[in-house]
Amino acid sequence: MKVIIVGGVAGGASCAARLRRLDEQAEILMVERGPYVSYANCGLPYHVGNVIEHESDLLVANEELFRRHFAVDCRTGCEAIGISPQDKTVELRDVSTGEVSTEPYDTLVLSPGAASVRPPLPGIDLPGIFQVRTVPDAREIREWIERGSSFLAGMEKYSGFQTVRPAMRAVVVGGGFIGLEMGENLMRRGFDVTVIEMADQVLTPLDPEYGRLVQDFLGLHGVHVVVNDGVAGFAQSDDDSLTVSTQSGASYPADLVILALGVRPDTTLAKMAGIEIGEHGGIRVDEQMHTSDPDIFAVGDAVEVRDFVTGEWSLIALAGPANRQARIAADVIAGRDSRFRGTQGTSIVELFGAAVAWTGANEKTLNRLGDTDYEKIYLYPNSHAGYYPGAKPIAMKVIFRKSDGRLLGAQAVGEDGVDKRIGDLALAIQLGATVYDLEEAELCYSPPFGSAKDPINFAGMVAAGVLRGDMPLCHWDSASDGFLLDVREKAELAVEHVPKAVNIPMGELRARLDELPRDREIHVICRSGQRAYTATRVLLQHGFDAHVVSGGMLSHAILSPS
Ligand code: FAD
Repeated sequence: MKVIIVGGVAGGASCAARLRRLDEQAEILMVERGPYVSYANCGLPYHVGNVIEHESDLLVANEELFRRHFAVDCRTGCEAIGISPQDKTVELRDVSTGEVSTEPYDTLVLSPGAASVRPPLPGIDLPGIFQVRTVPDAREIREWIERGSSFLAGMEKYSGFQTVRPAMRAVVVGGGFIGLEMGENLMRRGFDVTVIEMADQVLTPLDPEYGRLVQDFLGLHGVHVVVNDGVAGFAQSDDDSLTVSTQSGASYPADLVILALGVRPDTTLAKMAGIEIGEHGGIRVDEQMHTSDPDIFAVGDAVEVRDFVTGEWSLIALAGPANRQARIAADVIAGRDSRFRGTQGTSIVELFGAAVAWTGANEKTLNRLGDTDYEKIYLYPNSHAGYYPGAKPIAMKVIFRKSDGRLLGAQAVGEDGVDKRIGDLALAIQLGATVYDLEEAELCYSPPFGSAKDPINFAGMVAAGVLRGDMPLCHWDSASDGFLLDVREKAELAVEHVPKAVNIPMGELRARLDELPRDREIHVICRSGQRAYTATRVLLQHGFDAHVVSGGMLSHAILSPS
């Protein structure tokens, strides 16, 4: 059996290695048009920021390793330029010589990835404007920073006294995770960074309130974030610097521009081969990664996947799914019955010491689909026991089915412990767990790592309390429809208060029940929701129609931006 794999990075390289582990006899040819195979494109922003100092650290494996360890005929600088599904051949071009050859295959695997979106805007090809997709891209950016414009020449290495350091300005176009990672890393290199995002929020897989939370956090760290404005074009000034102009008429000076506008599946070869393309422009595959041609598989950023939660076809360009799909394709080629479960879009991004992570469906998607069978909770647990030094709050939003408690999605932001909580929830979602399962989850605990009631248990307890009717809930958008009862201490009100809310501190509540109406819903507020829950339990047991305002004042701060 001869297997040709097109693309030698995340999906291609994983598929080649897995296939060899399963089948010693297969003849495997892996072609990669770029100069490297199996490199860590996820590390590129950190290489630009000098966190990963050496380019060689990004090269996870090389051609030689694939040949010697895996007996894979691995060719870099080799581009697949055509497929003939009838003859079962691939046309290959040597990138340096231009020589074209034809190779037969029994099975073909496409893992060509995705191309960066590059709209035909005026001036987009000017020097100083970069994308970040490959090792050479990162190298060019680093070289530009170090000696790109005459104005900046040598400043990185300047070692004498410098009373006035020239401002280096970078504009990042696109507020997705790659754009934000680049923004932070350019700040590390001394740039004043502006991120311009056309949507109304950064990190669009988050719900808007979490997008705003991230935007405010970036602002605190000195990143200028502009939303609701698209880039209209680029121009070069007399001193060689750039000006980025936007659709709203604003303009931003820049010494460096990064284009991070997202990616589009690379379907050039698939289209040539007449393979079915899905509604979002990615290669259509089944659960076993077969394309519409039974001898051609496709994996990674180039394919459309089923959203695990909603069942919709979607494009999700992430390394984890690409690697898993590649293993599945290899399994199936080797005769195993593996199947891809779909993608939840589980992601995390590190920003200035904090983490932002999400998994599964967000509220925007559920609303777009007209799905009303869901409830959400906001909670702010500590990352570990509050009495142990270093505990940090995690802002969490968990979305679940109202009808059966099944988990649908989660988002979290915080400076500690975000990764493991979203990781736990991602696995729980994949296993079809409910909020009742979260209540019972047995997780690692000692004070430096968590709490006896871990944030995951806590999320389950709150959500299950809502579903069992122990904790009727309301959200800030409807909170003022009821009688607002604030059970915080008076001192807390001095910091922030809600107009028209009646204050009865929790400790006085039982003695002052006669001040509360029996003919209206009572919406109970505290700082995070915890005291409001206790108060609500008291009120319910005294016959009041009480509801906790989810997430209390902490949610108010993110849901009602000033
Ligand atoms: P790729 O890894 O892009 O590999 C495709 C390869 O195919 C390319 O090298 C290309 O040169 C080659 N190719 C294309 N056409 C041909 C052809 N005709 N002939 C020969 N070769 C061809 N994901 C995460 O999950 N977490 C992260 O933190 C993260 N960070 C990222 C940061 C950056 C800067 C980038 C660019 C991506 C990041 N990703 C991250 C996304 C992740 O890298 C991709 O989802 C993953 O690499 C996709 O794997 P793939 O095999 O589909 O494509």
